[in-house]
Amino acid sequence: HGEYSEVIIDTPDGPVAVGKNHPVAVVAGPCSVENEAMIVETAKRVKAAGAKFLRGGAYKPRTSPYAFQGHGESALELLAAAREASGLGIITEVMDAADLDKIAEVADVVQVGARNMQNFSLLKKVGAQDKPVLLKRGMSATIDEWLMAAEYVLAAGNPRVILCERGIRTFDGKYTRNTLDLSVLPVLRSLTHLPIMIDPSHGTGKSDYVPAMAAAAIAAGTDSLMIEVHPNPAKALSDGPQSLTPDKFDRVMQDLSIIGKTV
Ligand code: PEP
Ligand code: MN
Repeated sequence: HGEYSEVIIDTPDGPVAVGKNHPVAVVAGPCSVENEAMIVETAKRVKAAGAKFLRGGAYKPRTSPYAFQGHGESALELLAAAREASGLGIITEVMDAADLDKIAEVADVVQVGARNMQNFSLLKKVGAQDKPVLLKRGMSATIDEWLMAAEYVLAAGNPRVILCERGIRTFDGKYTRNTLDLSVLPVLRSLTHLPIMIDPSHGTGKSDYVPAMAAAAIAAGTDSLMIEVHPNPAKALSDGPQSLTPDKFDRVMQDLSIIGKTV
């Protein structure tokens, strides 16, 4: 609780402040790290468009055990290469506490995904290490449950937590993958000092709907955005339908700069 605050994140290009009075920090990149060429190319393109962080999954929480599970440790090396090549900070997900140390060697921010929002042992462990934590809202989590999950990280000693809204389950999943709950922006602002990120990619599940929801999030006061970008969405190993091409991302960033400061 307390005053609207900021989280300062070290990146190769220098510290990036997310939260109070700072420009909207944009996190962009593919759902999954697929190979070195695609992650390095994407990193350079999103950096040129104004992103401050590169996202990409090495360990992927997939609904089906037969779906692509991420390249794991070898993908961490590719993220390190993309970090070096671009200067961007790296955000990647931890699913298993056993992988936390090697993830934290590469990641500038450790992501806890929606499906692990109430994995309390994982929350305690990310709270006991030093890297900032991006805590995604569980797909059926109330705001109080989400804030209590953040409290686990804070209580374990890590004050650098960012809350990420990525859409919740409602009754109609036909036209959108989730219902992006932008009302969390004013609500969380009244309840917590923590910075807020909005993820319109997982929030809508469709790339065509991402620009409008990103713009709406900025209008409603978000501190940060997460946008999935893939060099060839049709061939993506995960979440292609919701991924923007680098060209499209570039145009969206230009449009967003009219609405709010993104760089
Ligand atoms: C992701 O960021 O790729 C992801 C799996 O997100 P979520 O946990 O919000 O589904
Ligand atoms: Mn994804």
